[in-house]
Parts: sequence; C-alpha cells; structure tokens
Amino acid sequence: MAASSFYVTTPIYYVNAAPHLGHAYTTIAADVLARHHRQRGQDVFFLTGTDEHGEPVKLAAEREGITPAELADRNYEHFKALAPRLGASNDFFIRTSDAAHMAKVQEVLTRVKDNGHAYEGVYEGWYCPRCADFKTEREIDPGNTCPIHKIPLTREHEHNWFFRLSAFQEPLERLFADRPDFVRPQARFNEALSFIRGGLQDVSLTRRKVDWGVSVPWDPSQVFYVWWDALLNYYTALSYARPGEDLTERFWPATFHLVGKDILKFHTVYWPALLMAAGLPVPEHVFVHGFLLMEGEKMSKSLGNVLDPFEAIDRYGADALRYYLLRDVSFGQDGSVSAAAFEGRYERELANEYGNLASRTIAMIDRYRGGEAPQVRHDPALDEDFDGLIEQISELLDRAEVTAALDQIWQRVRRLNRYVEERAPWKLAKDAAAAGELDVVLASLAEGLRVLTVLLQPWLPQTAQRLLAALGAPDHALEAARLGARRVGRVERLEPLFPKHG
Ligand SMILES: [Zn+2]
Repeated sequence: MAASSFYVTTPIYYVNAAPHLGHAYTTIAADVLARHHRQRGQDVFFLTGTDEHGEPVKLAAEREGITPAELADRNYEHFKALAPRLGASNDFFIRTSDAAHMAKVQEVLTRVKDNGHAYEGVYEGWYCPRCADFKTEREIDPGNTCPIHKIPLTREHEHNWFFRLSAFQEPLERLFADRPDFVRPQARFNEALSFIRGGLQDVSLTRRKVDWGVSVPWDPSQVFYVWWDALLNYYTALSYARPGEDLTERFWPATFHLVGKDILKFHTVYWPALLMAAGLPVPEHVFVHGFLLMEGEKMSKSLGNVLDPFEAIDRYGADALRYYLLRDVSFGQDGSVSAAAFEGRYERELANEYGNLASRTIAMIDRYRGGEAPQVRHDPALDEDFDGLIEQISELLDRAEVTAALDQIWQRVRRLNRYVEERAPWKLAKDAAAAGELDVVLASLAEGLRVLTVLLQPWLPQTAQRLLAALGAPDHALEAARLGARRVGRVERLEPLFPKHG
C-alpha cells in the first residue's frame, strides 16, 4: 500500500434482514473517514457491500419459500440503495455472490491449505445458526444458549476441513504486542487479546451441511464456512472493483475496518490469523464501535417513538442524521439514541447554532456591504481558537475518533456565535466611525464560517457544498480550513440550511 493511500471498510451486511439504524451508523462513520482523507488529498478507497452466503440466508429463504439466490437478489438492493441515501461516497459495493469474489476466495483459501494450515477432521460442538458461529465453551450461556441471540445452540457433528487457528496463537500475541493500536478502542484491544490468551482452538474452514456458499475446490462436497468467505471481501474487492485494473497493491492492507462489537472475534482474531496463513499483510487497524440503544419512552414531536433512519432522512435530510448519530453517542461506546434527542439536537445545534450563524453572517454582509465580504484580515482574537485546528482534527480522525473531532469543530461554531454577540455588528453598523471595525467583524465571521464548513464537510457533505458555494469559496480541501487561506468574496443568500419543523 502506498503511504498516501487510505482504505476503509464497513462490515458487509447480511442480506437476510432489512437495513436499519445500525447499518446506517457504521456506513456513516466510514464515510466521514473516507471524506476526511480525500480532503487531505489522499488516495482513498471506501468499501461496503452485502454478505449473501451461509446458513442464516439459507434459513431465511426457506421460511419464505424462495431460493437463497432469489432472496439475496431481492434484498441486496435495499442495502445498495442505503449508501446514497445516507450521502455515503463508497467507491464500490461488493456482493459475496460476485463470481470474481468467489474465485478469489477459492484462490486464497487453497493457498492456506497449500501452506499447511488446513486438515480434515470431525467437528463436534455447539453452534448458533443465527451467528453462524461455532461457540467455544467460554462463549456459551447457561443451558447451552447463545449469549447474543438467547436461543438454544445446536449440537453439531460434522466432517469438515479445519483451519489450524491454534498455530497462530503466538503470532497473534506478537501482533498485539508489536501494534498496540491494531484494535481500537483500548477496551476492545484488551478483550481481543484476552480471547487469544485464553487459548485458541482450531475452527471449521468448510461446512458439509450448508450448500449455499463458495464451493471448496479440493473437496466439492463442502463449501467454505461463511465467515471466511465474508471476511475475504475486504481483500477480494480490490482485485475486481475497477474493471481491467487490480487495486490490491495500491490499497492493501486496509487502513481501517470498522466493525460492531458483536463481530470482534472474527475481525481481530480469525481474520489476521487467516491473512497470516495466506501470507498476506494484516490490516492496520480494526475499530470496534458500540451499539446504539433505542430509548423508546420519550415521544418526539414528529418522528414518533422509534428513530427510523429513512423517516429521519425524509424529514430532516441525510446530513442531520449523520450529524446526530456521530454527535450523540461517542463513537466506540454504547449509547442511547431516540427520535426526541435527534430532534432536540437538530433544533438546538444544527438549526440554531450553525444554520443561524450561516444565515446571519450572509444576511449582514448583504445588508451592510451589499453582498461583498470585506477584503480585510480577520480578527486576531480568533487565532487562538482556530490555530492548529486542522492538525487536531486530523490527529483525532487518524484514530477514528469521529465524535471527539466533531466536538472540537462544534466548540468553534459556538465560539463564532459568542463572537457575534460580543461584537454586535448591528450596533457597529449604526456608527459611521466604526466602519473599519465592522469590516473586520464581517470578514472574520465569513472566514470563520468558511473554515468550519470545510472542516464539517465529512459530516455534513450536502450542507457544506451548498454553504461554501453561497460563500463563493467552494474549495473544501483540508488546507483551505485555515483563517485567511481562502477569501470569501461575493455571498449569496440561501434558504435555511436546517429549516425548522413545527
Ligand atoms: Zn447467536
């Protein structure tokens, strides 16, 4: 991978259900990182897609009386449509039923076998069909139930090919020792490491009883265990996402895999072990985020009880949802979300603090200076709050701290609002002797608003595009986010960025 490239992924989403807020959440966070790194001028690849094989899909199709392929073809469309509705800028959408993906899975896993990491055996143990996961004794709740799904586990007895995971105990411990930032946040790093230190058992590489998957080239009675097929999407996509071009050299290893905490084991233990077994570099970071908990009691004014991402987008726009989800719950932690809290943030922060700052600034330049922002230097009083901001945001986003970075920017939105109140341009406008001072205040507001809007672009892409156009300074490269780096010229009035909903 080239030093200037950045590759971010979401998990691929199971096609056996409909897209919900959890899917939207990870996609939005990945998109913020992708957009930020594009702002830095880096070569970016952003991947999302659907996981279409395995028992959960097969069982869902059986319940509906259709084939797994029919179910996948129907449902993947909903996930593919989700990304543009969220304003996500993914470079490719992978389906694990893509022929090129399946061929590459066969190639890589054959190499794993050729490298001596696969053997035939009999699997005997507990299995959760909803997780598609073979549970170790440590992962089983009382009464042999799944700790995630609370359903009874099935006892499996199967003649399979095994992956020699136990052989990677020591290499994985070394990986975690050498790369303290391999898994983030720290609590998840500790959780993964303790799973490894608890002792690794070999796991199924293939399955005999499931016929919906990628067939095993050296044993056609079997398909690859769906998790290997799914994990490999991050690698296979690069080989065929661009027709006639192989992007693997350019983007592998991935910079960030973003995953939910329920799939930590697969991404932080199984996945690096498999890559080592295939002789491939492991990803730079796995960021494990928490769960959004729906707090249903408080009614919102217009969205009802449940925060449905599509209703929220229809009513308030994708930017508002992007902002809310990454603002209200610190990325990496579990947290409650609700329709009422969403509407509260929308009104207080997006409409009143940011939207209002924009409309006031433009209106005052229009009224007092005929729509031309004064071409004078900004007020040095703002330097303290704006100097070093680009570096600070970049550093936080290098660690995928999308909530902390957003908070830093928002503190400056509030700083500019205080600045307006302190300097009261409407009073200066009444005093002809204060014309020079008014010029500085208006130029500072215009310039500060421009800088913050460039920085907010990854979270609020549509809003940023509109507002920067209205400020006559459309450049949203990160380097433009310094006071004085670009100048606001002629401003245009625009409709409220975040209109109030009664
Ligand atoms: Zn389960």
